[in-house]
Amino acid sequence: MKIDIVSIFPEMVRGPLREGIVGRAIDRGLLDVRVHDLRDHTTDRHRVVDDMPFGGGPGMVLKPEPLFAAVEHIRARRRREAEAIDAPRPRRSLGEGGSTVILTSPDGERLTHAVAARLSGLEHIVVLCGRYEGVDERVREALATETLSIGDYVLSGGELPALVIVDAVARFVPGVVGDGESVARDTFARGLLDYPQYTRPADFRGLSVPPVLLSGHHAEIEKWRRREALKRTLERRPELLGDASLDADDRKLLKEIDPGLERKKGEGL
Ligand code: SAH
Repeated sequence: MKIDIVSIFPEMVRGPLREGIVGRAIDRGLLDVRVHDLRDHTTDRHRVVDDMPFGGGPGMVLKPEPLFAAVEHIRARRRREAEAIDAPRPRRSLGEGGSTVILTSPDGERLTHAVAARLSGLEHIVVLCGRYEGVDERVREALATETLSIGDYVLSGGELPALVIVDAVARFVPGVVGDGESVARDTFARGLLDYPQYTRPADFRGLSVPPVLLSGHHAEIEKWRRREALKRTLERRPELLGDASLDADDRKLLKEIDPGLERKKGEGL
């Protein structure tokens, strides 16, 4: 998967991309991530990327020209590279000049498990990092193909959101997470929170591990984990249960955990 990130603080993005699962995926060629300095796409001597808002008001706004120029440069370069590799075959999602261009913004669609999974199926995404008071609206209108928010709070720039998006998306790219199982079992994967995890020692300062996990009885362990995942979801994020894929066993377990559940559902749980 190819990802391009455009920012006025490229070093803020490059460092974290070298570490951990994402860093390893880049080293192994599973992800091709490039970070671009927005100022390289200015044409004036002072490399100006921002200007005052029309209509007045505080702060500065990122100008449209450098962002359009950066995306056009990235698309042209990626297209040239793709054509050099396999000339006759038109590339999915690189056709018609169209890669997915994501504008980071607190008023965008919320990044979720499902959004990250969807993006991981794309061949190429470009992520634009805003700064200051935001980005000229014409970038959203005519350049970005979607707008994403990582949560209901305002950050000082789109660099951390870009890293969050790349990390969440990368986990769905085949081969990036070593044990394929663990992505499927993660919190949200089945619509439930994850079950509790323990490692050695079995007794730590008098806090012991649930005995079933030491029993070696795999079916019992699976059942315990499922029960705990259901219990946690019911206690902490009951609204998730509405969309979770639950079978008859799960419903039985839920009733055992909370006999009053059906009644509560009726009351709008
Ligand atoms: N004045 C704007 C905030 C601008 S914050 C407003 O009130 O909506 C500056 C930049 O940080 C934004 O352009 C965006 O790129 C990024 N940013 C801030 N919070 C974000 C969030 N929750 N999700 C995604 N991007 C965010």
